[in-house]
Amino acid sequence: MPELPEVETVRRGLAPYLENRLLTEVRLNRPDLRFPFAPGMTDRLNGARILRLTRRAKYILAETDRDDRLVIHLGMSGRFTIIDPKQTAENAPGMFVHAQETRPQHDHVVFRTEDGVEIVYNDPRRFGYMLMYGPKDEDPFRDVGPEPLSNEFSGPYLAHALKGRKMPIKAALLDQRIVAGLGNIYVCEALFRSGISPRRLAGNVGAKRCERLAVAVRDVLSAAIEAGGSTLRDYAHADGGLGYFQHSFDVYGRETKPCHTCSAAIQRIVQSGRSTFFCANCQS
Ligand SMILES: [Zn+2]
Repeated sequence: MPELPEVETVRRGLAPYLENRLLTEVRLNRPDLRFPFAPGMTDRLNGARILRLTRRAKYILAETDRDDRLVIHLGMSGRFTIIDPKQTAENAPGMFVHAQETRPQHDHVVFRTEDGVEIVYNDPRRFGYMLMYGPKDEDPFRDVGPEPLSNEFSGPYLAHALKGRKMPIKAALLDQRIVAGLGNIYVCEALFRSGISPRRLAGNVGAKRCERLAVAVRDVLSAAIEAGGSTLRDYAHADGGLGYFQHSFDVYGRETKPCHTCSAAIQRIVQSGRSTFFCANCQS
C-alpha cells in the first residue's frame, strides 16, 4: 500500500513529463479500475493541457486548462511507467525511463503527451482508481485536514485539533480530518520520534508534545520522500517503473527487536484493528 511519501515520490517522477504538457491521447484499456471511469473522461482529457500536477493526502491531482481535475489513487499496486522515445539510459542517467513495457495485460490507462511520451498506468490488483472533478463538482477534499508538510500543520494547530479528544493519539493521527494522508507506518514512527505513547489520549497531548509531534511527522515524511527519490532511481534502472520502496524504520515492523535508543524490546499492540509498534520505555 503506497503511503504519502511514495505517492509524493511518484508525483515528483511524473511532474517533469506531465506539467504544462498537452495530452494528445488518453487510452483506457478497460471500462474501470476499482470504480468505473467517469463518462467522457477521455474526451475531457484529450487535447487538454495539464497545468499542474499536485498531491493531496494520498492522491495525485492533475489540473487541466479545462478546469478539470483528474484525481488518481494508486490503490495497492498501481504504478506508472514513463516511456520516452527520445531518452535512453545513457543520455538521461537516473531518469524514470525504459524501453519496454512490463506485464502489458495490466496496463490499464495510457496518457500520451505532445512530446510523444507515454505515461502508462499499470495495476495488477486494480484497487487504484481515477476520478474526474469539474468546477461544479463538490470538492472531494473539503473535509480533509491540512497537509502534514504544509505550514498549516504545526504544534499549535495540533494542540487545537486534539483538544478534548478522548481517542488515543494513534487513532487521532490516522483521522484524515485532523491531518491528511498519514498512514499507519508513519504515525508509529512519528510517535516514537516524539516520545509520545500511542495509547496517550489525544486530548492529553499537551502543547510541548504537540510541537514535538508536528516536527516528528514532518521529519519522518521528509526523510522517506528523500529516500524514495534515491531508491526509485535505482529501481527505475531495473525495470522502469515508478513503484514502491522499502525503508528502514525505528519501530514499524520491529516487534521484539531492540529499540534504537534504549535497547528495550519494541512492542506491538492492536489499536482500532491496526498494529501499533512502539517502545514502552521511550514513549510516554
Ligand atoms: Zn526505547
